[in-house]
Amino acid sequence: MSIQKQQPETVVELSNLTKRFRDVTAVDDIDLSIRSGEFLTLLGPSGCGKTTTLRMVAGFEKPSDGVIRIDGEGVTNTAPYDRDTGMVFQQYALFPHMTVADNVAFGLEMQGRPRDEIDERTRDALEMVRLSGLGDRYPSELSGGQQQRVALARALIIEPSVLLLDEPLSNLDKKLRQEMRLEILRLHRELDVTMIYVTHNQDEALTMSDRMAVMNDGNIHQVGTPEEVYRHPADEFVADFIGNANLLGGQVTNVSADSYTVDLDNGASAQLAASTADSATVSEGRDVVLLFRPERFRIGARGETSGDNHLDGDVVEATFLGSHMEYLVDVGDEIVHVFKQTLVDGERFEQGEAVTLSFGRDAPFVIPGGST
Ligand code: ATP
Repeated sequence: MSIQKQQPETVVELSNLTKRFRDVTAVDDIDLSIRSGEFLTLLGPSGCGKTTTLRMVAGFEKPSDGVIRIDGEGVTNTAPYDRDTGMVFQQYALFPHMTVADNVAFGLEMQGRPRDEIDERTRDALEMVRLSGLGDRYPSELSGGQQQRVALARALIIEPSVLLLDEPLSNLDKKLRQEMRLEILRLHRELDVTMIYVTHNQDEALTMSDRMAVMNDGNIHQVGTPEEVYRHPADEFVADFIGNANLLGGQVTNVSADSYTVDLDNGASAQLAASTADSATVSEGRDVVLLFRPERFRIGARGETSGDNHLDGDVVEATFLGSHMEYLVDVGDEIVHVFKQTLVDGERFEQGEAVTLSFGRDAPFVIPGGST
């Protein structure tokens, strides 16, 4: 008997969702499906519309256009407390005059649950976020990390289908942030709850997400796993926003079945494997952008080459970063980042030194030019 893998069901579905504030279109006709049990990140620079999107899912903001479904049910105009969602805010938003236990119990009190059940579930929720014994304190008597744990317990106690998190770690210092990252991932794993997580921090999105939706100017540019987005960015914006990217512009010439040439804007030319681009991108005369991650270049003294392609340049900055060196190399009309592992007795280059960068036919990822 063959076992068929079930497609995960969609828990949250956004269709043609738009939000306008007077003359600002904060969210511009987006579509997005979030699957059951998924950790999905909305990632993008400040002002790109991610918080507005999350607040529309929560019901705190009314869409100008479009539809929101949760668990298959239209909730576009449903009040926040009638949606199957919980929310955690950047500023914790705890009730200052209520104890930790009362803060956590709030959602169940509103539902009018019996006292015994409320007490038991509050104890369990505090244990779940490792705050047992602190129920009688007030929020002001807790650290920032502890307050965020209370906010998590308060949102999770009502067992929502979807937990919405709006930059929950940005008020914490670096060490606490890393600790809470793991804590949130543990809760996600143990409770199997769908999470939508807003952040502008690329590292957070890359390390935490099952999938990420990269936003800019109210639009979603790409949805994919961290690896897909890092390795195959949909356009220049995504390439530049996620990870270190070197972008070199040029024009396609000499297309053959398994390779093509790009005449680069800096005067050099590159032989590339057909697999570096979608076939639609590779057509003679077309403007393209070659995207290189810094680890894809090899650096050698001027004239010292390896691989099919070479770029001459001058080191403008050399920085020791422990396990590797970072070089900034001027290759004509661009400065590119190059990483090189620091090996004992390995070759080192200094500022001002003439070097040659080499790269293979499959080193860059090539996207159409002029896409941003
Ligand atoms: P940040 O990371 O800075 O919070 P964001 O990506 O979450 O940014 P939003 O807060 O969703 O972005 O804002 C998107 C756009 O909508 C911005 O231009 C913002 O100024 C505008 N905006 C958001 N809320 C309102 C409001 N209540 N009234 C008017 N404009 C708003």
